[in-house]
Amino acid sequence: MTEASIEQITANLASVRSRMAAACERAGRSPDEVRLLPVSKTFGSDTVRAAHAVGIRLLGENKVQEVQQKYRETHEELPDLEWAVIGHLQTNKAKVVAQLASEFQALDSLRLAAELDKRLRNADRSLTVLVQVNSSGEESKYGLDPEQVPAFAEEIAQYDRLRVSGLMTLAVNSPDLTMVAENFTVMTELQERLRSSGAPGTWDDLSMGMSNDFELAIEHGATTVRVGTAIFGTRPGPDVWW
Ligand SMILES: *Cc1c(COP(=O)(O)O)cnc(C)c1O
Repeated sequence: MTEASIEQITANLASVRSRMAAACERAGRSPDEVRLLPVSKTFGSDTVRAAHAVGIRLLGENKVQEVQQKYRETHEELPDLEWAVIGHLQTNKAKVVAQLASEFQALDSLRLAAELDKRLRNADRSLTVLVQVNSSGEESKYGLDPEQVPAFAEEIAQYDRLRVSGLMTLAVNSPDLTMVAENFTVMTELQERLRSSGAPGTWDDLSMGMSNDFELAIEHGATTVRVGTAIFGTRPGPDVWW
């Protein structure tokens, strides 16, 4: 596998950050409002080390086995590196996330919430979680229907090891930016609804936008953008990320 070099990551990061700043400017937002979450999936531990060397301290991964392996390979030498799990999680793998992740962005069922809470209690930890929403309505996508989220927010409030901090979505993968923007708008409207109804949890974090659409996401209120390819380069093999 080709790993990303420090030079490549440095140059790509500078470019992504300046595009983020320009998008913030267009939207009349402060660049401090938007967090960049670099996504290292499919790259190996050498890329993780290079990312750390350029100052990255939080990396996104979508598969449990993969994050577990990279954690094992790098945790001792890079103890301040944190992991955000951003992909669908099976209940039987909740334990791993409870042990090593600092953030989980794909909460989409009560069963998983209960299991994470239990595992976190055993590990004496807590976890920042974002509720994943299927904003495009595509069958292939994970996440709750937007209509289900207010009731879900009430239910998960009982799990005190989960710090509910916002919403995450994957917009439709389409060159038609109008369609993509519609998905983002579903999210900002939902966020507003949760806030104004006083749903338990803080709903400040809106994780949406990836390499192809992060500028549009920022213009639509994203507070976290998850960027892989534009930082680390093209991934080898088929891209299965939902
Ligand atoms: C892979 C992945 C990303 C980043 O995708 P890029 O197009 O490479 O920027 C973002 N979010 C999730 C959930 C992913 O799996």
